[in-house]
Amino acid sequence: MSSIAIHPAVDSGFRATDAAFSGGTLVCKCTSNPVKVRIKGDIAHNHACGCTKCWKPEGAAFSVVAVAPTENVEVLENGDKLAVVDPAALIQRHACKECGVHMYGPVEREHPFQGLSFVHPERFQETGWAKPGFAAFVSSIIESGFDPSKMDAVRAQLKASGIEPYDCLNPGLMDYIATWTAKKSGVLAS
Ligand SMILES: [Zn+2]
Ligand SMILES: [Zn+2]
Repeated sequence: MSSIAIHPAVDSGFRATDAAFSGGTLVCKCTSNPVKVRIKGDIAHNHACGCTKCWKPEGAAFSVVAVAPTENVEVLENGDKLAVVDPAALIQRHACKECGVHMYGPVEREHPFQGLSFVHPERFQETGWAKPGFAAFVSSIIESGFDPSKMDAVRAQLKASGIEPYDCLNPGLMDYIATWTAKKSGVLAS
């Protein structure tokens, strides 16, 4: 089976998840004066993402992205190198202007994900973070130029890596969003 470059953290097999992982420091790719962002406490909902907005390492079809409460995110060093990629986007992705790595992306407007920040755990200098549990927005990799005829192979390879592919978010998060929306509109009691 020809191998597709899903993401280095997926393709190389996972490092063992450490149940005691309690956060760490994200570091960008700059060899001098890297941006450092501290994440206090564990991350959640780690997954592979095929959307066109997430930062991906060179050659990878997917990003690996998780969330942490924004109140647990602290820029430690070289924050002056950060700029928001797209101020109009729901996720305010703060990227290093020199190397391009997205360091954290808070959701600030009213939304089910308000108060959470999206981060790329592969940039942790520490090991032990949870492996990606599913793949989101799989079909969207075509929008980045991926060959549509290889999508069956992509989904098969994800499944073989223990990662269930979805073309939106996984059922747990889709239900979470719909529940928030239903409570907001009043059709469900909050
Ligand atoms: Zn950088
Ligand atoms: Zn994404």
